[in-house]
Amino acid sequence: MTTTTANQGGFVSLVGAGPGDPDLLTVKALRLIQKAEVVVYDRLVSDEIMSMVNQDAELIYVGKKLNHHCVPQDQINQVLVVKAQENKHVVRLKGGDPFIFGRGGEELEKLALESIPYEVVPGITAAAGCTAYAGIPLTHRDHAQSVHFITGHLKKEGMDVDWNGLAKGNTTLVFYMGLKESPNIQARLMNHGLSGETSVAIIERGTTPRQRVLTGTLDCLADLATQAISPSLIVVGSVTSLHKELNWFDN
Ligand code: SAH
Repeated sequence: MTTTTANQGGFVSLVGAGPGDPDLLTVKALRLIQKAEVVVYDRLVSDEIMSMVNQDAELIYVGKKLNHHCVPQDQINQVLVVKAQENKHVVRLKGGDPFIFGRGGEELEKLALESIPYEVVPGITAAAGCTAYAGIPLTHRDHAQSVHFITGHLKKEGMDVDWNGLAKGNTTLVFYMGLKESPNIQARLMNHGLSGETSVAIIERGTTPRQRVLTGTLDCLADLATQAISPSLIVVGSVTSLHKELNWFDN
């Protein structure tokens, strides 16, 4: 047994909810949300998944508020600590995988500091789920020998990436949170030598009944991005040209 009950002390399960389709929850994630006492969740967790949560659980939303500001990370950390210290079994439910652009590590650092026991349940990350539902294999012997997951929040995080390393022909690039930065992504990749003819795809609301896949070439990525809404994933690389042939998910 990895989980504890209330009378054994507080416990936090950091759980990935996958990209949207409730059928992509892991069996373990389902089991945990059905018996959680507190569920702390954010914007990317779909309503269908929330409807599967234990009806008696206390639900705490920590996604963007009405004024569009995120709940600061230290406040989220504090909620987890306080609820666990009340001896509750807390499920921290996050879209996709908690360790892929999900700040799961930051939350665990705080729990570790406070000596609160925890477990991590991985989820299907958007890059894997959305491309599968779009008929885009992330690797393919004829197209891509590697795949990169990259945050589009480059400026916000005050860091840059190795554009030279990314602008190679035989790799697949997956940008999370990239819509606003798409002009920069397009320009940087082309300036570092990636052909403007490279195929790209934007997968909007992947794995849900409202999934949309927009396709084009790198030299029109920024234009394409103006037609998409969040959450969307940007995929750059010749594997995206397979979407038309391999698309199986009717929407
Ligand atoms: N931890 C999450 C990612 C959180 S960052 C995971 O592993 O998937 C949020 C970004 O993920 C969004 O801006 C978008 O780029 C991507 N994303 C998440 N769910 C998505 C979906 N259903 N369709 C398209 N993109 C998605």
